[in-house]
Amino acid sequence: MKHACRKVSRLASDALDRKLSPLERLRLHFHLLLCVNCRNFRSSLQRLHETFEHIRSVQAHELKLTKDQRRRLLMELERKLGD
Ligand SMILES: [Zn+2]
Repeated sequence: MKHACRKVSRLASDALDRKLSPLERLRLHFHLLLCVNCRNFRSSLQRLHETFEHIRSVQAHELKLTKDQRRRLLMELERKLGD
C-alpha cells in the first residue's frame, strides 16, 4: 500500500469516529477520486462499520467492540486489500 493510501485509509477510519477538518475531507475526497484501492477500502470500511452499528443496536449488551478490537479488524482489512 502506498504511503498516501495509508494516510487516506487512516482518515477514512477516523471519519467514523470524529469530524474531519475541511482540509482532511478535501484530501480524502481528492484521493478517492484518483485511487480505486482506497475507494474499495472505504466502502468495505463503511459496510463493516454499518454491520457493527447494526449488531450493536441489536445486541447492545452482548457485543461491545473496543477501539483496539476495531483497529485490529481494520488492519486485517487493510492487509486483505493489500500492497
Ligand atoms: Zn489510495
